[in-house]
Amino acid sequence: MCSLPHHNSVMNHSHSILIFRENEKIYFEVLEEQLYTIGRASSDKIFLASKGISRTHASIYFSENSFWLVDGSLKGKASTNGLLVNDLKVSVHQLRKHDVITFCKGVQAIFMQFNDELLLSQGLKVFLENMFDFLNISQSRLAHSEQNSGPDRKKDRGASRAAQLQTQVDDLTGLPNRKAFLARVEKSLGVNNFLLEENQFAIFFIDVDRFKMINDSLGHLAGDQFLIQLAERFKACIRPYDMAARLSGDEFAILLDNLGSVDQAITVAKRLQTNISKPLKLGDQEVFPSVSVGIASSELQYETVEEILRDADTAMYHAKRAGRSRFIVFDENMHQKAKELLQLDGDLRRAVEHQQFELYYQPIISLGLRSLLGFEALIRWNHPERGLIEPNTFIPIAEETNLIYEVGMWTVQEACRQLSVWKQNPAVQIPISVNVNLSARQLSDTNLVKRIQSVIEEYGIANDELKLEITESIAMENSQQTSKVFKQLREIGVPLVIDDFGTGYSSLSYLNRFPIDTLKIDRSFVSKINVNAENTSVSITHSIIGLAHSLGVKVVAEGIETKEQMDYLRLARCDYGQGYLFAKPFPADIATDWAERGLDWRWTST
Ligand code: C2E
Ligand code: MG
Ligand code: MG
Repeated sequence: MCSLPHHNSVMNHSHSILIFRENEKIYFEVLEEQLYTIGRASSDKIFLASKGISRTHASIYFSENSFWLVDGSLKGKASTNGLLVNDLKVSVHQLRKHDVITFCKGVQAIFMQFNDELLLSQGLKVFLENMFDFLNISQSRLAHSEQNSGPDRKKDRGASRAAQLQTQVDDLTGLPNRKAFLARVEKSLGVNNFLLEENQFAIFFIDVDRFKMINDSLGHLAGDQFLIQLAERFKACIRPYDMAARLSGDEFAILLDNLGSVDQAITVAKRLQTNISKPLKLGDQEVFPSVSVGIASSELQYETVEEILRDADTAMYHAKRAGRSRFIVFDENMHQKAKELLQLDGDLRRAVEHQQFELYYQPIISLGLRSLLGFEALIRWNHPERGLIEPNTFIPIAEETNLIYEVGMWTVQEACRQLSVWKQNPAVQIPISVNVNLSARQLSDTNLVKRIQSVIEEYGIANDELKLEITESIAMENSQQTSKVFKQLREIGVPLVIDDFGTGYSSLSYLNRFPIDTLKIDRSFVSKINVNAENTSVSITHSIIGLAHSLGVKVVAEGIETKEQMDYLRLARCDYGQGYLFAKPFPADIATDWAERGLDWRWTST
């Protein structure tokens, strides 16, 4: 019924084409006229024409250099079936390439733009075959939603459509749900895989930062309100033909379609971060939301929805780990890293089985007495092929895979065993304590305190010789559970240390709430101490020490690397210090030398 676009002398001449599928038939129309009416003619076949149509479904007209689609006739009568573009109901719509239009049952069209060169290079046959594949996909989905027949067909069809929509909408926020989102991404991918032209699109995988804290502190109703308002903000950041969806709990996703370049996605991500982080009212509480966003773009030639979503998720995970409230674009490096992590995960399971861990010890020095107080036990993994692996690489994996329970208890056990060896060594004349780091995950183990107590008893060491460290941010995030475990530990007399202090909430108020024995000032503060320049870090360090002391809490400075830093900290009455100036973490046999030397060691002479 229609002719090929004219290959006139002007190369790169652009053609707008509508490709129709009507049940099993495929045909297309090159849009060249100003106005088309789309409707059913007496032959009961949909076609584009200016005359001879008994019922108008839609009109297409050309204006401002683009084609516009109008539901019903231009005289303002809407069609009975309604008009769907990319599954969304429209009344007027500016056609963009790859829009899929559903006119009525069994009739769909896709709007495309080609230039001569492209069409010539790919060949019409290939083009039509691909198109057929693509439209078949849509058809199977269509058939699924239109299984009804019989006298009440129309009514049933309406109900079925409503039911179908219901299963695609998130009840709480009214956004499309995971299912709807995946279907839409599949369509965007389908366009890329089956068509000759690239459709650039990007996916945002969004995780709300600290949602658990809002839920726990303000209650679930407030948590729901929070998510509803965030959903509104997501919608406000995107264009009408993009899609924002709620995947689950506090996870959202956005599809940005028809992008000119990935840079456009970055512009949207920046806008999103700014809009999201504006304060938000929950009852009389004001909260400051933030989100971590991972971006994956169609540039990486994905074949399946799972792949692109997985990569966006990986990038989101990187954004979280880089300190939240930011976006990160997925790249091939991350893919490589993700693969390595997967490999490490498998290796880590074997490491637990084959006991490939070792504890290194870093001395903690009393700055006033210039003596050894004890050691911090720091885990290392002796990987059979990769050599020594640092905890920052594998502890997060162990946490995710729950191996941390075993790894964590091994550390407690090994530290206590080593401590008992030192206690029985007559050459060690001074009391030694060992600090062990606990991970947040371990706090959810309801038997944690019992287990620790039994290890302490097994090795016959005093309860205050083992100290447990937990990072400040973790202590705050799980405040209820943390205080429960902290209190139990205090009851059995195990001292508690807040690690990396100053990096999290820096709220000293919880020093009162929790039974804390020691604070460790984070290395980032210590490293900025410079005797020649009074800076903020220095005054913060000073006030932390003062406040901690007034509450009867001892202070350790982490990461002391220079004599100036040590001198300053001594003057500021910091109790203890730890850092490369004294020693890097070392294996147990060197720690034994230190323990045997006690007060008599080289630093006293400097
Ligand atoms: P952390 O508990 O804050 O331990 C201090 C980290 O700072 C150690 O890194 C130590 O080697 C490093 N450090 C000490 N002094 C200096 C210094 O002067 N300069 C610099 N640049 N760094 C210094 P490491 O051993 O790589 O441990 C990293 C983190 O891994 C630890 O931070 C701790 O949070 C975690 N970790 C270590 N062992 C365990 C464990 O057995 N269980 C758990 N859950 N976490 C552990
Ligand atoms: Mg520590
Ligand atoms: Mg630390």
